[in-house]
Amino acid sequence: MTVYAGPVFDMAVNQFRVIADHLSIPMDERDRLLLPKRAITISCPIHRDDGTVAVFEGYRVQHHLTLGPTKGGTRFAPSVDIGEIAALAIWMSWKCALVGLPYGGAKGGVRVDLTTISKHELEALSRRYMQEMIPFVGPHTDVRAPDMGTNEQMMAWFMDTYSMYQGRTVTEIVTGKPVSSGGTLGRLEATGRGVAHLAKRVMKELAIDLNSATAVVQGFGNVGSYAALGLHQFGLKVIAVGDHTGALYDKGGLDIPVLMRHAGAHGSIAGFSNELQFDPAQILTLPCDVLVPAAMERVIDAQVAQNLQCRVLAEGANGPTTPDADLVLEKRQDEIFLIPDILCNSGGVVVSYFEWVQDLQQLFWEEEEVTRREYHILDRAFDQMAARSKADKIPHRTAAMAIGVEKVRAGKNVRGLFP
Ligand code: NAD
Repeated sequence: MTVYAGPVFDMAVNQFRVIADHLSIPMDERDRLLLPKRAITISCPIHRDDGTVAVFEGYRVQHHLTLGPTKGGTRFAPSVDIGEIAALAIWMSWKCALVGLPYGGAKGGVRVDLTTISKHELEALSRRYMQEMIPFVGPHTDVRAPDMGTNEQMMAWFMDTYSMYQGRTVTEIVTGKPVSSGGTLGRLEATGRGVAHLAKRVMKELAIDLNSATAVVQGFGNVGSYAALGLHQFGLKVIAVGDHTGALYDKGGLDIPVLMRHAGAHGSIAGFSNELQFDPAQILTLPCDVLVPAAMERVIDAQVAQNLQCRVLAEGANGPTTPDADLVLEKRQDEIFLIPDILCNSGGVVVSYFEWVQDLQQLFWEEEEVTRREYHILDRAFDQMAARSKADKIPHRTAAMAIGVEKVRAGKNVRGLFP
């Protein structure tokens, strides 16, 4: 029994067990690799617009400090609990190690329904969340970033709150900030762009013609919208898109730039078109060449996996596919090419790392340089995953995670028990 118990944490544990068995990691090393170094739970009281006080619960989990500071996003959503945040922190560790970043994984969040608070209350909550965390974070201890329900503006509030306590501007405490506040060019687009880049690479390997290919994207926030845009720009028809308000389908291909402008102005795809409305429950199983789940975890269970009709599954979200579904996909291995989440969506943390480096050096790069370096790292990690999968005859997810776990394990074994 652990404080993290819950379905998302169980999923991270089950995945780790598969990797640990594959790598023959001794039992007495496993808890040390898996269990988070620290977990912080805080209360965030804020004044509501009507003068009352509301208290929100917030979390931050720092998985390990073996390879450098911890790094990870901040989620504001009603589903947030300590188990979900711990699982996301663990996945961040394997992801950062896989792509070769000098970080351990972290994740944080606040349990809040964003539809129930005003912009002014959101600013108060964002600032309070950062303020309560000040004793536990720092540019060389734990660096945060956006995730579901958080955005550039909130990163700017985090950075500003931390900076005011230090008496100087500390841009390197947070990544995913606006470019006007020490952010990097190419970060806003980085995760979705990376998803599209890797999907395109796989399509080329599978000899799928980009101009007659189709894509379906679940989630139209930061990751989903830029992944859809990237695929659209590569020539694919994005035939369906869904978010928490519903789904849209157009067999001729949706106009993604126009839909992005709509979602930017209205906060969702709702109200874009009555004619194109589609049943969101069916979006994942539509026939298509590329499927991008880019919303939330555990949406592809064994039953959905059995019914998938895509050729490439490019996991934009963290943890969209359950271990049971993985087993189904393994049996269908010839049919569906999986790009696992810790590789597929790693463009976000890669460019966050570039932002941190630029902030520390106060030397800023052109966007072309940012994206070129992002793709280089993604391609290198993809090659390593593919080679490992082939050599060990293991699925892509096992290969990607094995590389990540091995690197963390090597760091722990040379340093000892502390980090
Ligand atoms: P976001 O808040 O910008 O967007 C989330 C999207 O998911 C929204 O369009 C929302 O409507 C949709 N959504 C929420 N609940 C849904 C539901 N029940 N059904 C369908 N759609 C639903 O978040 P984001 O930053 O784009 O993150 C999306 C996923 O990508 C998360 O799993 C996150 O952990 C992961 N991720 C994000 C980044 C990043 O840089 N932002 C990096 C790596 C991974």
